[in-house]
Amino acid sequence: MADGNGILVIGEMAGDEPASTTLEALAAGRSLLLSLPGEKLSVVLAGASTTAAGAIAIAHGAETAYTAESSSFADPAPEAMVAVAEEAVRLASPRIVLGSKTILGRDVMPRLAFRLGTALAQDCTAVDIDNAKHLLATRPVYGGNAVATIACVSDIAVAALRAKSVDAAQPDLSRTGEVVALTIDIASTIRVRSIERVEQTSEGIRLEDARVVVSGGRGLGGPDAFTELDKLATLLGGAVGASRAACDAGWVPSSYQVGLTGKTVTPELYIAVGISGASQHMAGCSNSRTIVAINKDTGANIFKDARFGVAGDWQKVFPAFMEHLKVLLG
Ligand SMILES: Cc1cc2nc3c(=O)[nH]c(=O)nc-3n(C[C@H](O)[C@H](O)[C@H](O)COP(=O)(O)OP(=O)(O)OC[C@H]3O[C@@H](n4cnc5c(N)ncnc54)[C@H](O)[C@@H]3O)c2cc1C
Repeated sequence: MADGNGILVIGEMAGDEPASTTLEALAAGRSLLLSLPGEKLSVVLAGASTTAAGAIAIAHGAETAYTAESSSFADPAPEAMVAVAEEAVRLASPRIVLGSKTILGRDVMPRLAFRLGTALAQDCTAVDIDNAKHLLATRPVYGGNAVATIACVSDIAVAALRAKSVDAAQPDLSRTGEVVALTIDIASTIRVRSIERVEQTSEGIRLEDARVVVSGGRGLGGPDAFTELDKLATLLGGAVGASRAACDAGWVPSSYQVGLTGKTVTPELYIAVGISGASQHMAGCSNSRTIVAINKDTGANIFKDARFGVAGDWQKVFPAFMEHLKVLLG
């Protein structure tokens, strides 16, 4: 690998601030720099207003924040983001480009890798550097049934991190860095125009941020059972999730889905009710601190990952569990 100039994070915005996934990528970048002494971390952020975002990214470890400000970036088109990212790559000439496997990242990162004439390591759960300073990207393969670590040996390595694979660092407000404003004619690059954005309204805690997640699967037998899970989640101050089988059945919206093709959650407590524990489901919750499973099949895969398990019909176990919990919580 040619010696590149450190690491560039392709950032995303949540309002006027860097998204949590971008802060996670910055933390991953900082830890990679421990193996690349003397090299630097930069980030590119495109938004309607980036002043605060640049400073926040620097507090989270970036030496340089490339910013592109335009009202069109309030809801960025992937091709505009690719143009901005490509310009930042040209200026920073990094050896490693890190992005996130988000809805936007899934569009932007493969296109960027193609433009840079390299491949993309998608959906990485860990990144490291080998002795030859190649990026090592660890990612699930074969539908989550195996994990592969691949060495990215091209001159520029491009990887997209799965959300919550890395903890964001605490901001250090004493850090200083450089903010470089990019001027790019994005109007000529945009071929798709967003007409309307409809935010899904959700009450309570976001699934991805919840400290307790109560998830239901096909074993619940129907949508009504999710009302019971909701009561438990409310009691514990958590959120409700689901397996793909439950989402595909239309019992809950697909935004509830946990797993390889759903959300990644890392709560302190994950309660799986009527979920078999298929590898694709576990890919989204196996990093939970404690997994509790309720399943009537003692041979269910979920019991391999669960710290505590109750073998039984959830309709009998669950009410008793709720009653006991109410007593415990006073
Ligand atoms: C490429 C790909 C991507 C995928 N992505 C995802 C993903 O992101 N998320 C995901 O969840 N899946 C995903 N899947 C699907 C996955 O393989 C499983 O099919 C799915 O997770 C099964 O959901 P389930 O556990 O709810 O259902 P099942 O496998 O049918 O399991 C139901 C469980 O409920 C138990 N049960 C039944 N009745 C009761 C009862 N009365 N009380 C207690 N327990 C009971 C059964 O013993 C069983 O273990 C993906 C598959 C593929 C191929």
